[in-house]
This record gives sequence, C-alpha cells and structure tokens, in this order.
Amino acid sequence: MKKILVDIDNTLWNFSDELYLQLKRKFPSFSQPSEWNGWDFWRGQCEEADYWGAVNAIHFNQDKYIPFAESKKFLQALKKSGFYILIMSYRLPASLEVTRKWLNENELIFDEIQFPKEKADLFGKDCCLVIDDEPRVLQKAQEKGIATAGLRTYPNREGQNECNLFTDLDGVLAYVESFK
Ligand SMILES: [Mg+2]
Repeated sequence: MKKILVDIDNTLWNFSDELYLQLKRKFPSFSQPSEWNGWDFWRGQCEEADYWGAVNAIHFNQDKYIPFAESKKFLQALKKSGFYILIMSYRLPASLEVTRKWLNENELIFDEIQFPKEKADLFGKDCCLVIDDEPRVLQKAQEKGIATAGLRTYPNREGQNECNLFTDLDGVLAYVESFK
C-alpha cells in the first residue's frame, strides 16, 4: 500500500500562533510569528530550555487546540485515495495518548502514529509522499526520491519553492491528487 507521511504541527493545526502565546507569556517582548524566519528564531529571545518547555507544554495539552478547518477533509481525501496515513511528529513519547485523543476527537483519520527521533528514519521504500512544513525534513525526503509538499508557514517562508509549499491544505491536496 502506498504510504503518506503527515506532520502535525503547522501542518494539521496552527502551532506557531499557540507557541507565540506561550512564549510571550514568559517573555513579553518575544517576536511575533510574522517575524520568525528559520527554525532558530527563538535564539537570543529565550533559553533553549524555555523554548522546548513551551513546545512540550503545548504537546501535552494538544486536546485543547483545534485543527485547521481543512484537516479532517484533507486526511479523509488521502484515505479515499488509498493512502496508508502515517502521522509523524517530533514529540515526547509521553504525549502519545493526548495526541491520539486529539486526532480521534477531531476525526483526523490515520493508520499509525510515530514520534521518531529523526523523521527521515521513516522514509522507507514504501513511502511515496511526505507532507511537512520543515524544509530540512522535505529536503531529506527529496534526497531519497520521495515527493514532498507542505504548508508555507512563517519559519519556512523564504527560498523554499522547491519543496512544494502551499498556503493551505486544499493546495497540498490538489498537488497530491495531481501526483497520484
Ligand atoms: Mg511541522
């Protein structure tokens, strides 16, 4: 079965806006997401432990947040197209159950969830598409000959045209459906 790998943060929901709220609470002058560029945007604004503390706190409270309006339809369409859907995220293993609960409660259908140390470890021969917003991840997939797509978000907004980034999941879906 053809396998598609789908990221969670900034792919199925607006992680950046919530991360900003969390960081701003502790660091009132923290820059807004529209000013973020690259994945080390937090450097010079907080300590690494503060950054990961905020990221992990969000993941442990995942069920408080809402997915993008298109996420349910997006995953349903992938399933209907015959994909095996592997949800992947860089998260602590202890947040697996709340993540599963969030996916189920929001009717975000999937076949498997993995929290790998390195997403590229999941890029096997059976993997035909990787959906993620992080250019580093998408580039690793492309190096293995796997097609990629993702959302254009603040940290990846510049110079990543080759990764097939779209403004919303409807754009990603149109690309996936043109590809199959
Ligand atoms: Mg992401």
